[in-house]
Amino acid sequence: MSDNKNLWVIVETNQEGKAVNVGLELMNPGRRMADAIGEKLYAVIIGSGVDKAKEEVKEYGVDGIITIDNEVYKDYNTEVYTDAIEKLVKKHNPNIILIGATNLGRDLGPRIAARLHTGLTADCTELDIDTETKDVRWTRPAFGGNLMAMILCPEHRPQMGTVRPGVFKKEAVGAKDEIDIIDEDITFDGEVRTKILDFIPREEGEEVDLVGAEFIVSGGRGLGDPKNFSIIKDLADALGGTVGSSRAAVDAGWISHSHQVGQSGKTVGPRIYIAVGISGAIQHLAGINAADTVIAINKDPEAPIFARADYGIVGDLFEVVPKLTEAINKRKA
Ligand code: FAD
Repeated sequence: MSDNKNLWVIVETNQEGKAVNVGLELMNPGRRMADAIGEKLYAVIIGSGVDKAKEEVKEYGVDGIITIDNEVYKDYNTEVYTDAIEKLVKKHNPNIILIGATNLGRDLGPRIAARLHTGLTADCTELDIDTETKDVRWTRPAFGGNLMAMILCPEHRPQMGTVRPGVFKKEAVGAKDEIDIIDEDITFDGEVRTKILDFIPREEGEEVDLVGAEFIVSGGRGLGDPKNFSIIKDLADALGGTVGSSRAAVDAGWISHSHQVGQSGKTVGPRIYIAVGISGAIQHLAGINAADTVIAINKDPEAPIFARADYGIVGDLFEVVPKLTEAINKRKA
């Protein structure tokens, strides 16, 4: 285990070859933990045409970048990507590997961990490190979100974990004077058993950009009726923001799951999060840890959301929200 050194962030790329946000977000805790144990932070990029992503990650304070650039890695494929990372790990012996908990990361992470006979903590919401043992303290919700479990992987290396998008903020701290660039000439030797036949992009409007939103106004069961989401939408429009919701509103069929914030929905990190008619259950709060400012509007002064809120308005949402929207629209006029 003493041979294992350095912290890797696996940086996923999108169809245009750019780094997806969560990879850049993970540089932030990655840098902090690597510094704490005197090790180096490496971005690992695999794909076909990785130059754009390579340039992007430089600005995030990495000590090094490891790439594999080959046509065979053009589209994500579990078998092929697992093989590539296994080869890289066996050659370079990293101590820690962070992966974004995207669809790709959730597929890839466990496969690599199984190959390397090591542990993986999925869906972490906090990361810390023991500077003596160099064990990462992976924190994630457990038992339906009713408690937070801290997990260690003291007997195997590399230590691995996935982290949801939006938990950490991107911090472009600037490029280091010297960056160790390692372009590996690795390819897949076997027969690729899974072939991509077609790529069908999502239809416009299908996806709600909650994760990247700066302002989110979320509605809960307190709205009482699906048509009342129009009040939420009006406020979100006035702020140039996005509509979110609690799970109760989704379960009631008032709004689609793509709007849901929380443990079984999306983790968000807006500048301002406004919770309207939402009680503040622990599973909802798990999704808004990274929000800069939380404003709660609820008629029950004892609602748990007020314990998390930076500003609270105790009142009837049907009176408060339209007034707020009107005031914001007036200021803009
Ligand atoms: P309620 O708890 O019913 O709260 C409604 C609030 O509206 C109350 O506080 C009430 O005072 C207020 N209100 C009512 N009328 C008005 C009015 N006129 N004006 C102002 N305020 C008013 N929940 C999530 O949100 N996201 C998740 O991802 C999620 N994942 C879960 C995963 C698991 C495994 C489990 C077990 C639960 C999960 N939940 C999740 C559900 C969660 O426990 C709560 O049930 C849910 O968040 C409650 O939604 P709510 O706050 O809208 O409803």
